[in-house]
Amino acid sequence: MGNVSLLRLDQSGGLAPGNKAFKLREYLAQARHSGAERLVSFGGAWSNHLHALAALGQQNGIETVGIVRGEAAEDETAMLADAVSWGMKLQRVSRTEYRRRNDVDYQRELRERFAPCLLIPEGGASPAGVRGCAAIGELIGDVAPQVGRVVVSVGTGTTLAGLVSSLDTDCEIVGISALKGATDLEQRVLDLLAASDAGRQAGWSIRHDFHCGGFARVSSALREFILAFEAVQEVPLDPVYTGKMLFAIHQLIKTGEWNAGTPILAIHTGGLQGRRGYPWMT
Ligand SMILES: *Cc1c(COP(=O)(O)O)cnc(C)c1O
Repeated sequence: MGNVSLLRLDQSGGLAPGNKAFKLREYLAQARHSGAERLVSFGGAWSNHLHALAALGQQNGIETVGIVRGEAAEDETAMLADAVSWGMKLQRVSRTEYRRRNDVDYQRELRERFAPCLLIPEGGASPAGVRGCAAIGELIGDVAPQVGRVVVSVGTGTTLAGLVSSLDTDCEIVGISALKGATDLEQRVLDLLAASDAGRQAGWSIRHDFHCGGFARVSSALREFILAFEAVQEVPLDPVYTGKMLFAIHQLIKTGEWNAGTPILAIHTGGLQGRRGYPWMT
C-alpha cells in the first residue's frame, strides 16, 4: 500500500509501550520533584493509559491509583488485572461520578483523599503530556528527517499536539480520530498547544471518518483489513487506535484521495495489550 513506513513505538517502552510512556514521563518527573507519593488518574476498564501508569509507577517506585469508570462485573478486565498486579489501587466509581473527572471541586476532593499526590487528567491530556510527546517528534527528526506526511491515531489529541510542536514546520500531520463525532477535538488540540507554549508548529488536521462505528467498535471492513494486514505485514495492530489509523491510510490511497507516491510515516502507538478484549484477535 503506497509508500508507507511504520514507526514501531509498540516495540519500545517495555510494559508501557507505544505513546503512553512518552506522554507520562513529565508527570513522573513532576511527582519526583514535588514530593508526591502517588499518581492518580482516570480511565475505563480497558484504558491503555491506566495500564501504562501502573507499569511506570511500579518501575519508578511510586504508588498509583486508578479511578475506574463503572462498577459492573464486565469491568473486571485483563487490563485492570495487570494494573493491580503492578500495585495500582483501583477506586471504582459510578458512571455519574466519573463524569465529574474534570470538575475542580471533585479534583480537590481526590487530591485531599490521596495526598500527597499528583492528579493526572484522563489520557494524560495536559501540557505535560504534550511536552512528553514532543520527544516522539524529535525521534522522527532523527530517523526520518525528510518525511512529508506523518499519520497518527487520535484519542485525546495529546500525542498529536506533541508532534505538532516538535516536527519540522513543513511536515503535514494527519490525525485519525478513534472516536465518533468528537467535533471538539480540533479545539482541544488548539487549547493544548496554547497551554504548552508550543512555538513553531507543523500543519495538522484530523480525519473524523474512520472511527468504524465508534470508539473501540469494529466494523467488518476494519476487521478484514486488520486480519489481512497482519497476515501480510506480520505486524500486530490494535483495533481501537492503530488498526483504524492504518485502515484510513489504506482507504485514502485506494480511493486516490492521497497520492500513492507520497512518502508517509505512520506511527504505531502500541495498545496491543487491548487485543485481549477482542476474541477474534486472540
Ligand atoms: C492512548 C492511545 C492513543 C491516543 O493518544 P492521545 O494522545 O490520547 O491522542 C493512540 N494509540 C494508542 C495505541 C493509545 O493507547
